[in-house]
Amino acid sequence: MTQLTLVMGDITKMQTDAIVNAANSSLLGGGGVDGAIHRAAGGELLHECRLLAGCKTGEAKITKGYNLPAKHIIHTVGPVWNGGSKKEEPLLYGCYYKCLELCVKHKLATVAFPNISTGIYHFPKQLAAETALSAVNDFCEAHPDALREISFVCFDDENYNIYQSLLAEMPHT
Ligand code: ADP
Repeated sequence: MTQLTLVMGDITKMQTDAIVNAANSSLLGGGGVDGAIHRAAGGELLHECRLLAGCKTGEAKITKGYNLPAKHIIHTVGPVWNGGSKKEEPLLYGCYYKCLELCVKHKLATVAFPNISTGIYHFPKQLAAETALSAVNDFCEAHPDALREISFVCFDDENYNIYQSLLAEMPHT
């Protein structure tokens, strides 16, 4: 069974097989968690990202972790919140699910997610957490022993409290 873990702090410090980056579609760096990951990983990351030729919203691509403690970075592009009628929920669900599928493909046992789209992209935090956990739950049901641990790394109290309440109701924790 996959362990679900809640962490408060900086995702660039996570010693997991992969950390997930909430990137933009250029994959060439940006603000928020994306900027922090590029700074901590070092310039070689940008070089590898240039070769990927971008990424569509709801999709995911993997690179090495370079100077990070994490071995890999899975870059996914969350949806910009636009009121909820632009398929934001299924797109965010797809981000989480596709990152987990990439973990299986690359035989990664541990992965850490940030709260994708809840920063600059303004996705409502409660709905984002419910969508994230629904994708993770569906994935864990379909692939019960694929991963050892999935961590949710929150950077603000509001997200942390939302995840704490939702995880308390879930069977995996
Ligand atoms: P997006 O454009 O997908 O909204 P952001 O980077 O603006 O991406 O925000 C996504 C989430 O990542 C936000 O909840 C933000 O607080 C959080 N965040 C920012 N920096 C870090 C970090 N170093 N570690 C973990 N989470 C972070």
